[in-house]
Amino acid sequence: MSVIGLGAMGRALAGAFLENGHPTTVWNRTPGRAGELVARGAAETAAVAEAVAASPVAVVCVLDYAAVRETLDPVAGTLAGRTVVNLTNGTPGQARETAGWAAGHGAGYLDGGIMAVPPMIGQAEAMILYSGSRDAFGAHERLLGALGTAVYVDDDPGRASLYDLALLGAMYGMFGGFFHAVAMAGSEEVPASEFTPMVSGFLNAMIASLPAMAAAVDSGDHSAADSNLEMQAAAYVNLLDASRAQGVSTELVEPMRALLDRGVAAGHGGGDVSSLVGLLRTAPARG
Ligand code: NDP
Repeated sequence: MSVIGLGAMGRALAGAFLENGHPTTVWNRTPGRAGELVARGAAETAAVAEAVAASPVAVVCVLDYAAVRETLDPVAGTLAGRTVVNLTNGTPGQARETAGWAAGHGAGYLDGGIMAVPPMIGQAEAMILYSGSRDAFGAHERLLGALGTAVYVDDDPGRASLYDLALLGAMYGMFGGFFHAVAMAGSEEVPASEFTPMVSGFLNAMIASLPAMAAAVDSGDHSAADSNLEMQAAAYVNLLDASRAQGVSTELVEPMRALLDRGVAAGHGGGDVSSLVGLLRTAPARG
């Protein structure tokens, strides 16, 4: 196993391979980051070509796809018959382009999305999404299992990245809501740590409504509504007005108001808020 890129995530990945007894070779653009890994048994190479040559599988985890290509382009001629597992964050388009580039050089390619932070790597809670070559995933699934729970999502190499970014969108939506909530409570000097258990409890209760919303999105039937959209649009104005009155910026919550109003204007006011998903699409689905 070779790990290319020894930032916070690359070091965690290499550490998990070592922990599971896999001989591991590492390379980083800036030397001097492999000390602890070398002490644990890793081999450090000075040239990326040596790292690629050392193993049939190279896991790449650098800042972005430009860095991936800057690193691998000079050694592209040595990739034939090897597998590149690219765990760098990027877009579905970048993943598909890189898969095509790898195929052009005779390399197997898996693109991955790491749904975890470095201290979680190696534990079951660390979900890592993979897409691309089904054969490569089958051949290396056990090896990749050293990093966390390996989930293969599709042979379209862009799918793991699509899921990764979609899940990050959900995460940032939740963080944004949390930040606004504690700022509101903080406007009356309620400490964040005192208010947060109430936020968590409420969010957990609301999470229970997601499967029913998903079913409505899939069926297109948003008629079942205990909490109809028009009522929510009216209440939302109070959230914005109260925020301003409390001296809290509305920048995180303002966009939802425009969407709620658009839903009412589109005639969905009597139905469930899940109809808003349909308003977010700006182009037909990729078939
Ligand atoms: P770091 O900032 O800690 O490390 C960045 C790494 O990229 C370093 O090894 C750096 O090398 C390398 N790098 C940057 N530019 C180049 C280049 N042009 N050529 C070669 N190498 C380059 O980032 P992380 O390790 O945290 O993140 C790596 C990837 O993992 C990112 O895509 C990130 O989005 C993803 N990720 C990170 C998570 C996290 O919580 N940390 C969570 C999930 C995904 P050098 O030392 O020489 O600068």
